[in-house]
Amino acid sequence: MRKKIIAANWKMNMTQSEASSFLDTFLRELGDEKTVEVVIVPAFTALSKVSERLSNTQGVRLGAQNMSAEKSGAFTGEVSGAMLRELFVRYVILGHSERRSLYGETDAVVNRKLHAAVEATLKPIVCIGETLEQRDAGDVEKVLAAQLKGSLAGLTAKEIHDAVLAYEPVWAIGTGRTATPEQAQEAHAFIRKTVGELFDETTSAKMRIQYGGSVKPNNTEALMRQPDIDGALVGGASLEARAFAEIVHATARCA
Ligand code: PEP
Repeated sequence: MRKKIIAANWKMNMTQSEASSFLDTFLRELGDEKTVEVVIVPAFTALSKVSERLSNTQGVRLGAQNMSAEKSGAFTGEVSGAMLRELFVRYVILGHSERRSLYGETDAVVNRKLHAAVEATLKPIVCIGETLEQRDAGDVEKVLAAQLKGSLAGLTAKEIHDAVLAYEPVWAIGTGRTATPEQAQEAHAFIRKTVGELFDETTSAKMRIQYGGSVKPNNTEALMRQPDIDGALVGGASLEARAFAEIVHATARCA
């Protein structure tokens, strides 16, 4: 049984004080919901404040949006896995499509970061997904298979034991255009099958695969009822505390 996981990717939004007032409302609205794992993923500058606020909150975890593939040293502007661990960060998003398209992160870069995350005992959320051109060209499976193979290269089943995958069709991110539950399910089933081929059946059966791309309170249930969708990575709707809590509650109804 895979526990559903809903993550709030705040991107470059929310100062420390904004994060604090978000949590006042969100934690109240969340109540004692424990059937779903929730991850808050603020910008680096708000990690410590959110970490402090979540320290006595069961079931809500802290994540980071990115990390360096290096351990330490002369890498101006970078943040290491050990630095994140010290703030009680549990998860790290790797290879988000904005990192890939705006900052040139390739599967090889994502792979190096993934090795570093595993070494730092951070749980990676590895993002993959096709562009609209790739979908229109009928290349969805080819693109997803290549991203999985490249991003997960050189890791053992044991090392990716705690990893989460996020299927985020690029054309659905921040556009208001969601994949239909059937389109998403089809991609998730393919991803699970590919994980089975790259590792083994136990790993693929255990692997949680989130959907991401314009998830809102009103489309959550239909997506979460699909058999291979194990949660969501939420951008825009995670900035509004009540909407995000509603997404978690809608997910719990499908758990
Ligand atoms: C994201 O950035 O991971 C995302 C899914 O964004 P949105 O929910 O705004 O489409």
